[in-house]
Amino acid sequence: MSGTADVARTAVVTGGASGIGQAIVRRLTADGLKVAVLDLTPGTDDCAFTVDVTDRAQVDKAMDAVRERLGPVSVLVNAAGRDGFTRFAQLAFADWQRVVDVNLNGVFHCVQSALPDMWEGRWGRIVNISSSSAHSGQPFMAHYVAAKSAVNGLTKSLALELGPRGITVNAIPPGFIDTPMLRTAERNQRLGGTIEEHIARTPVRRVGRPEDIAATCSFLVSEEAGYITGQIIGVNGGRNT
Ligand code: NAD
Repeated sequence: MSGTADVARTAVVTGGASGIGQAIVRRLTADGLKVAVLDLTPGTDDCAFTVDVTDRAQVDKAMDAVRERLGPVSVLVNAAGRDGFTRFAQLAFADWQRVVDVNLNGVFHCVQSALPDMWEGRWGRIVNISSSSAHSGQPFMAHYVAAKSAVNGLTKSLALELGPRGITVNAIPPGFIDTPMLRTAERNQRLGGTIEEHIARTPVRRVGRPEDIAATCSFLVSEEAGYITGQIIGVNGGRNT
């Protein structure tokens, strides 16, 4: 396990069935943590629950089941996310609400639901996967960018509030990571160019891999990252920094 904890810690990863979340599940499992997945379509992981993170009752029920099977939750990674692409003038309020609900309110529910274990244990690690688009904005994604920007603000406030109890809270805003979400955006011509054109504009000249995010997350949830909190740590190949 990364860090020096002598018991395997229990981690919950939302959105852990695909893309970035899935890579985080694999990495934390390889690090020696006991990992549970909460996802709309949870796949075949050993400890995976069908949960819509916008539904508090579903989140609480799954969190209780995780506690029962794997022990108190001391690591939470909020990776569940939903993008959206609509000109603001035509953006229906219901679409705005759904995107804010999944990307922001889902984090609220999952943090509140997992927090009692961390509070009790005086140790916790929360990592929120936001988005590099929160740095400079993104046309046609006002709802998504607004929600992800709020996640960065929430991260900073929670870090101040929970630090005295040994709980760190950080955000990773990924930029341009090769996942089903990115490929769907490319297919639907929402990227403002091809992936190759984006690579040419990326200083390290490649698309990001889910494993790039997972490696950073692995460090942030480790024992030795205990002095890092309230940080927005971009993993983006040098774009949007
Ligand atoms: P993905 O679509 O591959 O995975 C997202 C996962 O979230 C899916 O398994 C999906 O079922 C789950 N999910 C969606 N809505 C949910 C809900 N209401 N309740 C529970 N689970 C839900 O996407 P990804 O690219 O791996 O994205 C992971 C995170 O990274 C998201 O928060 C996304 O906004 C963020 N992000 C991704 C990129 C990128 O370039 N791929 C860039 C910036 C931010």
